[in-house]
Amino acid sequence: MTGSATENRRFINCPTVNALNFEEQVVVCPGCSQFGAMCCQHPNDDCHHHRLFFADGACLNNGRGGARGGVGVAAAENDKNLHVSKPFSDLALERDGNPKRTNQIAELRAAIEAVALIERFYDSYGPNGEPNSKPDIRKRKHQNISRSSPQEPPLCVIGMDSQYVVKGMTEWLPIWKENGLKTKSGYEPANLNLFLLLEQDICRVERKWGGGMVICFWWIPRGCNKIADKLAKDAAKLDIN
Ligand SMILES: [Zn+2]
Ligand SMILES: [Zn+2]
Repeated sequence: MTGSATENRRFINCPTVNALNFEEQVVVCPGCSQFGAMCCQHPNDDCHHHRLFFADGACLNNGRGGARGGVGVAAAENDKNLHVSKPFSDLALERDGNPKRTNQIAELRAAIEAVALIERFYDSYGPNGEPNSKPDIRKRKHQNISRSSPQEPPLCVIGMDSQYVVKGMTEWLPIWKENGLKTKSGYEPANLNLFLLLEQDICRVERKWGGGMVICFWWIPRGCNKIADKLAKDAAKLDIN
């Protein structure tokens, strides 16, 4: 056990680590520059027990004419293969073709792309994050790193500064489901289709690894999400409305 837990997909690190500042809880592996949320068992090295995927959405001209949107995801500091920077015009071609752009939709689509990156990562690395026969995402070698045991299922943490997505997935969605996909006051929640698409993708990727893999959400302060923020803003500038 690593001392961490999840509750309704909310990441709860062990109390000793939780007492630190957020900046101190984010670790960068010296071997591969991948991000992690510090694990209380191995605070001074990188064990990859809690893989951290930063995600952020951007919407320029939000609420005005000619809004442009983009998403950013980063699973490593220096590995461009583990960065995602996609304008909405590209996402619309790949996914459901819905052209609507708002800040909230950008955040939801960023979480969806984080799940897609998690899937690509484990397709290349297997359930334990070890390179398999075709390691096209990460080729660098690890040295002196205590890895999760083969029995230990991956815990993937999506770090976002959007309360809307983190609370939506971990607090509101369970209530909506109990209420027949309605809010407490009986209305259909805004962007319900995207919340459900996000959950569907999460469940599919978790099932792919035979259960045990958990994808969860962690609210982080804006200042900790700078890499994903930049990737999202750069993408939004390239969006063709
Ligand atoms: Zn590493
Ligand atoms: Zn660990």
